[in-house]
Amino acid sequence: MTEHVEQLEFQAETHQLLELMIHSVYSNKDTFLRELISNASDALDKLRLASFQDKDLQVDTSDLHIELEVDKNERVLTVRDNGIGMSRAEVVDLIGTLAKSGTAQLRKQLAEAKSEASAEELIGQFGIGFYSTFMVADKVVLTTRKAGETTATRWEASSGSSTYAISDLDEAPQGTAVTLHLKPADEDDHLFDYTQEWKLREIVKKYSDFIAWPIRMSVERVVTEGEGEEKQEKTLVEEQTLNSQKALWTRPRSEVSEEEYKEFYKHVSHAWDEPLEIIPLKAEGTFEYQALLFLPSQAPFDLFTREHKRGVQLYVKRVFIMDNCEELMPEYLRFVKGVVDAQDLSLNVSREILQQDRQIQMIRKRLVKKVLSTVKDLQGAEDQSKYQTFWREFGRVLKEGLLSDFDNRETILQVSSFASTHSESEATTLAQYVERMPEGQDVIYYMTGESRDQIERSPHMEAFQAKGREVLILTDPVDEMWVGSVPEFDGKRFQSIAKGEVDLESEDEKKASEALREQQDKEFADLLTWLGNTLEDNIKEVRLTNRLTTSPACLVGDVFDFTPMLERMYRASGQELPVSKRILELNPAHPLVTGLREAYDQRKPDADEGKVPELTETAELLYGTAVLAEGGELKDPARFAQILTERLTRTL
Ligand code: ADP
Ligand code: MG
Repeated sequence: MTEHVEQLEFQAETHQLLELMIHSVYSNKDTFLRELISNASDALDKLRLASFQDKDLQVDTSDLHIELEVDKNERVLTVRDNGIGMSRAEVVDLIGTLAKSGTAQLRKQLAEAKSEASAEELIGQFGIGFYSTFMVADKVVLTTRKAGETTATRWEASSGSSTYAISDLDEAPQGTAVTLHLKPADEDDHLFDYTQEWKLREIVKKYSDFIAWPIRMSVERVVTEGEGEEKQEKTLVEEQTLNSQKALWTRPRSEVSEEEYKEFYKHVSHAWDEPLEIIPLKAEGTFEYQALLFLPSQAPFDLFTREHKRGVQLYVKRVFIMDNCEELMPEYLRFVKGVVDAQDLSLNVSREILQQDRQIQMIRKRLVKKVLSTVKDLQGAEDQSKYQTFWREFGRVLKEGLLSDFDNRETILQVSSFASTHSESEATTLAQYVERMPEGQDVIYYMTGESRDQIERSPHMEAFQAKGREVLILTDPVDEMWVGSVPEFDGKRFQSIAKGEVDLESEDEKKASEALREQQDKEFADLLTWLGNTLEDNIKEVRLTNRLTTSPACLVGDVFDFTPMLERMYRASGQELPVSKRILELNPAHPLVTGLREAYDQRKPDADEGKVPELTETAELLYGTAVLAEGGELKDPARFAQILTERLTRTL
């Protein structure tokens, strides 16, 4: 008997994704079963854990298992588990919505996913677990009863519909059953008939052999009984376990095939990509543990959202204890997946205990070192493609470690790579940068900004381009943060080319230009004072510079000032910041600047009293173009446009 039937709309993105799934010919449909078994296995893990932790929970955990049931005539396949189950609210929340945290991202990618190939990539990136069933079924029914609850829930959806039905059930075994009404078997493609015993056997063996719980199926076996005349064929039904249940991380690496590792990776990470690198680890002695870690090859879509979970799983003596064990892996390595199985912890271990546990801290230390050394190995390899993939996908995350992991800062700097003016296409390591540094240069130059283009065209770059000095181009938001707090690499300070004064001249050049400098300082002294007063709402100082070759002016910060981008980041995150004024630097060789000086010298007294509006306007234009040249925003763009228009009109 069912009651309280509700017809609910799929979340728009879920429905869209579902449609995509149904119509895309994903190259490997078999994976739907891996996903269902993976979910069932998680549910069994959770139930066992709950029964440890909650003594009042009345559940039978004596025969936890997964079962496959086939009805050939009806073309129905059911995957059943007696695990934790779900409440009605959980079904709505977990099954009815998908990608809760990354919906905006998902929507964007869905809009772009026109081609078949991009659809596949999307499926890969979002790891569409439960919904992969719609690759093979046109109707899916899920019934579930949560451990400790009496009412069960039934969920049903059909392909093509934008709604699903959900209702209460009076009776259902504890756990979850997912029933697939399979699409008609493809006439000429028996390879995809999921009612065939051999097919199911093959998939389980291939994708789910390591699952710790027995995966059972009733199979028919024909036996011959009796002798001679009496001989008779009889069909027996017997239950068989399809998987070997061997925990992969306990087996020596030489005994485990690449394929097995790959499938295990997909199970623990809930992802569909391939692992980039497999890292088995073992410690024996007083404190024994085994770990099996993976570097993924593709960043999940929600890596930068707060909801992102699922790093390393903690097991104690083969028993699953928790997902995303933060105590084992720092935030900046949150992309690392896998399991750690510790032998000496209690099954009752809690987050609070873990935080205090010295052994856990030691494991974490070792895992971090191992992950970083693995990245270093990739970087040192002849074939750079793995390192490049790694850096493209996770470099931005790894760099967060520069701010939080002081012990490993040096290693993180070593394995990092950066865009630079040295090459359009190839990134550089800091060691390579240092090696190329010309004599006399003792700092590492960089500039932060929103894009390579913006940085390369900024006036600050001019003198560096003219002198052929290499500048690191830092465009990740995290770069803004770490460059301010990491003092040096290999004894060389990091110096922003948009901050402080630049000094690119050799001793000889300095001597040669000394006389000119002195003369310029004298000639421009009055103008600089006047400009400083006229623009005082916007800037804190005006000075001459030799960092410019073609632009008349640019803005720079003091060494400890926030950059405009960092200010924007803080403001965007809702923090109040005082308006910080910057320094206006002038190119004394530029005609606009010399022209302004001459005009000012001629009418000094009047200008000082503000009686020459054209001069004030020129000062504003000069300042405004400096703001625009570095990609900044004008405070009063209308006024700037108006002055400029008037000036242009006069030139016609
Ligand atoms: P994922 O496994 O990556 O979370 P899925 O789409 O496979 O994504 O499953 C969504 C969620 O639904 C799971 O996280 C789990 O909470 C719940 N779920 C799915 N199948 C089961 C099951 N057999 N038993 C209990 N909960 C389940
Ligand atoms: Mg899943």
